[in-house]
Amino acid sequence: MNSPDETQVRGACPHDCPDTCALVTTVRDGVATRVQGNPDHPLTGGVLCAKVSRYTERTYHPDRLLYPQKRVGPKGAGQFQRVSWDEALTDIAARLQAIAARDPEAVLPYSYAGTMGLVQGDGMAARFFNRLGASRLDQTICASAGTAGLMNTLGGKVGMKVQFFAEAKLILIWGSNSIGSNLHFWRIAQEAKRQGARLVCIDPRRTETADKCHEHIALRPGTDAALALALMHELIQHDWLDHDYIAQHTLGWAELRERALQWPPERAAEVCGVPVEQIQRLARDYGTTQPAAIRLNYGMQRVHGGGNAVRAVACLPALVGAWRHRGGGLLLSSSGQFPVQRQVLQRPDLLGERRPRLINMSTIGDDLLRPASPDFGPAIEALVVYNSNPVAVAPESAKVVAGFQREDLFTVVLEHFQTDTADHADYLLPATTQLEHWDVHLAYGHTDVLLNRPAIAPVGEALPNSEIFRRLAQKMGFDDACLAEDDQTLCRQAFGEQVNFDTLLAQGFASLPLPDAPFAHGGFPTPSGRCEFLNPQLVAQGLDGLPQHLPNRELPDPHGPWPLAMISPPARNFLNSTFVNVNSLSKLETEPLLEIHPDDAAARQIRHGDVVRVFNARGEYHCKADVSERARPGVVVGLGLWWRKMGLNGTNVNQLTGQALTDMGRGPTFYDCAVQVSALA
Ligand code: SF4
Repeated sequence: MNSPDETQVRGACPHDCPDTCALVTTVRDGVATRVQGNPDHPLTGGVLCAKVSRYTERTYHPDRLLYPQKRVGPKGAGQFQRVSWDEALTDIAARLQAIAARDPEAVLPYSYAGTMGLVQGDGMAARFFNRLGASRLDQTICASAGTAGLMNTLGGKVGMKVQFFAEAKLILIWGSNSIGSNLHFWRIAQEAKRQGARLVCIDPRRTETADKCHEHIALRPGTDAALALALMHELIQHDWLDHDYIAQHTLGWAELRERALQWPPERAAEVCGVPVEQIQRLARDYGTTQPAAIRLNYGMQRVHGGGNAVRAVACLPALVGAWRHRGGGLLLSSSGQFPVQRQVLQRPDLLGERRPRLINMSTIGDDLLRPASPDFGPAIEALVVYNSNPVAVAPESAKVVAGFQREDLFTVVLEHFQTDTADHADYLLPATTQLEHWDVHLAYGHTDVLLNRPAIAPVGEALPNSEIFRRLAQKMGFDDACLAEDDQTLCRQAFGEQVNFDTLLAQGFASLPLPDAPFAHGGFPTPSGRCEFLNPQLVAQGLDGLPQHLPNRELPDPHGPWPLAMISPPARNFLNSTFVNVNSLSKLETEPLLEIHPDDAAARQIRHGDVVRVFNARGEYHCKADVSERARPGVVVGLGLWWRKMGLNGTNVNQLTGQALTDMGRGPTFYDCAVQVSALA
């Protein structure tokens, strides 16, 4: 029961999580006292994860950035002095103008999903950089291989409605620690389990989710496509196929059949490092249970063959006709189903005739160190970072840090806290949190649009990202009317007439009118309208048009210098590098840890709790050993993602990860990383 002097404000969780929860913030005397899940939003069900339940702790954290600051110490030392907004923005505008006068492409915006909001993400910011003609950022760091895999198979980021997983009789949770990073799906899976569904977790790590499934298949990292192809082999051999669905709604069956027959379970067992019987059992379960549903997540696509792996898995539902049921099929991302008006929101027309180069955010380590050249264009002279912490999260940190430390690089960072990236800023600008600004959200794990209203006034002198770019545009003399539009206008523009804004204002969310079983009668959004086992566009590019298993580039060699594979999934109470400085959450995670199997630890005389050195040719990272069977033999798990400055030797796991890209989608290969581990004397 709320007291009469309390108000409740509806919002949306802004974090990079498929659940996009509806929030209710309780405010008393202008202070947010509680953040809870909105009980009226069916998918949130009044429940939030531990991370966002502590949102007031994060919002009122004593380390919140409260006013603009200017660097006074050496690059990267994190020494700043307070300045006024006017001084900061006047100087930033002058610096950007001078660089842009030579070549606007020497300016690079760098952003990702620090907020998933369409307004405080790439709304006003995109307009500003389009007007400037800055380089464009290829936003690949999380999901682009999987996106490409899905596009090349199903035709878009489309799939099952998450609520209907409750009706499945078999659920494969593939490459996802749902309890940690997709909690509201997990609640639905539990409901299915109570109704008799079998849950199988496919993940190299024995996660909290794996603990609670009926079966865990602990395959080697980067071998998911081999497993999927072997499942197809068994479906064919035992004729557990929906021939009618295949004939009506797929493309390239004869070719896929031939490919799959090259993958008997014995071959896949060897590659994946799992028992043959486990593959055979999974195939039988999948081939003989309806409805069967797959919750795929992005963990498995962070390897060389990530795009192909998603393609291989995405073929499975069509083979057994799982799409016929609303409780069957697959879900990786639902975000392609939202009618976002990106042209209106981001205004690419402001570019005019210009077509600035695209810089891949996953290779920022190399690209910051690249000189001007005819191929590359101008060296990057200015970097404006918002909604991202690349010094901690981008691969091959040593190079990223070296780039950020360039004396001739002008860096502006919009942030809530003094992160590793903020330490390298020339200007550090305080941004508002989700409790302090307007925004509107799509989701990638459900199909509801959510509106976020500000619950409290900005803390200190913090400003919304949108307002910072509005003011900067003004300082730069950009007088286009769209650069002055306010946030509520942008919220309305994001979906235009496609979503009823009054509904959003009234209840905080609106569901998209979509069919319950989207591909029961085919109609995939591919050029052929079919599920494309064989993709003609890939063939036209001279690529293999069928899904294939591409081994990791960094296969651990038991007799070589790097005998262990390392994966680096997020710790349960962190979300990428967000929340690591929220004391109640970092206490739960204790300290940077490396999970290592008892056999691998014993072979190296490593005891539980020892400080270890994890290393490869790119660098070394020190942390404590957690000797645990959560790690399978031959695979270590560097739980992320701590800020570098919290690490024992001032690094984190990305000191070890490389900048090689995925087979499709130009994504990073964080989990394709071979290392050695030793006890630190
Ligand atoms: S479960 Fe995900 S969407 Fe929901 S509050 Fe937590 S981080 Fe946000």
